[in-house]
Amino acid sequence: MSEKLEILPAQQLEQALAIGRLSHAYLLVGGTPEEKLETARRMAAALNCTARREGRACGLCPSCRQVFSGNHPDFHYLEPRGASLKIDQVRKLEIELKLKAFQGRAKVAVLNRVEDLTLEAANCLLKILEEPPPNVYFFFWRPSRMRFYPQFAPVVRSFISPPRGSLLLGGFTGKRS
Ligand SMILES: [Zn+2]
Repeated sequence: MSEKLEILPAQQLEQALAIGRLSHAYLLVGGTPEEKLETARRMAAALNCTARREGRACGLCPSCRQVFSGNHPDFHYLEPRGASLKIDQVRKLEIELKLKAFQGRAKVAVLNRVEDLTLEAANCLLKILEEPPPNVYFFFWRPSRMRFYPQFAPVVRSFISPPRGSLLLGGFTGKRS
């Protein structure tokens, strides 16, 4: 299945949030790790901000401060342990995501280097994506437009690839969107 490309600057995510049309999972391709982390944090902050305006986090409330200092209890970051992202890591994340958000708003899960998911872990993640827990948002990262697990195709609406160094985004759709 071919992947439909869609350029979606980070700002558009905030606009999507403002009108209630944020997808529950996005794939961030290219850009630097810092840019991708910044985008994921910006959205985690916006989703949890107590003073959000037009989809943008205020940056000042306690929740925003926690997100931007890397201490928010509902922000989960996962990267490969050793050479791969393993099924026990994904299962542990699944358990955490099924718990109610600590602060009653949204949980955000960031998975770095999703190209390194083991097949087992990818299948486990796919099941989560197909029936995502409420108020959970995923941001997947990978360094370039490499082949992704074909099993993800049915839940991938589009994704982003950067022309040169810029950050592009792609949305996934699941049953909830
Ligand atoms: Zn805020």
